[in-house]
Amino acid sequence: MQYDYSYCPICKNKLVTRKESGLERKRCSDSECDFVLWNNPTPVLAAVAHRNEEVVLVQSIGWPAHWFSLVTGFMEAGESPEEGIAREVKEEIGLDCKVGPLLGIYEFIQMNQIIIAYDVFLSQGEIKLDKEELVDFKLVSSSNLRPWPSGTGQAVKKWLHQRGIENKEIEFKKLKKN
Ligand SMILES: [Zn+2]
Repeated sequence: MQYDYSYCPICKNKLVTRKESGLERKRCSDSECDFVLWNNPTPVLAAVAHRNEEVVLVQSIGWPAHWFSLVTGFMEAGESPEEGIAREVKEEIGLDCKVGPLLGIYEFIQMNQIIIAYDVFLSQGEIKLDKEELVDFKLVSSSNLRPWPSGTGQAVKKWLHQRGIENKEIEFKKLKKN
């Protein structure tokens, strides 16, 4: 997320823009305080979560009706990425899973995030959506699954490629309509 802080979170003085380590950054205006807003990207975990060659795509609250994406979530302090994505899968769709290999790490510049995507094997059982975050899900077979042009979409593309499937990417303008 691109936060626009105006005040120092340590001493509450105004932030000012100055050059720090070669780039313009916001830092505290109080010369006694060392706070610099580095604005580094936030890690986000993502799962190509599947069983029987069907991938679970989910729709978050507030998204257009034709938008579906991977199960994703932020890491909690003190957990490994693998623990984090297993926790997110359990929270969002109610299933246990086995976290497989890393699919890749992808930038998501508009959101100032870095996507860390895993191949995730779902256990049997009924999918139960987290109704506080999600409104819908769908199961898409690998032959019908099409990647989309963003970090999570590139993880899908890689997962398909590992199966010898090169489905055409969904065009960005189709993602925007509706
Ligand atoms: Zn300060």
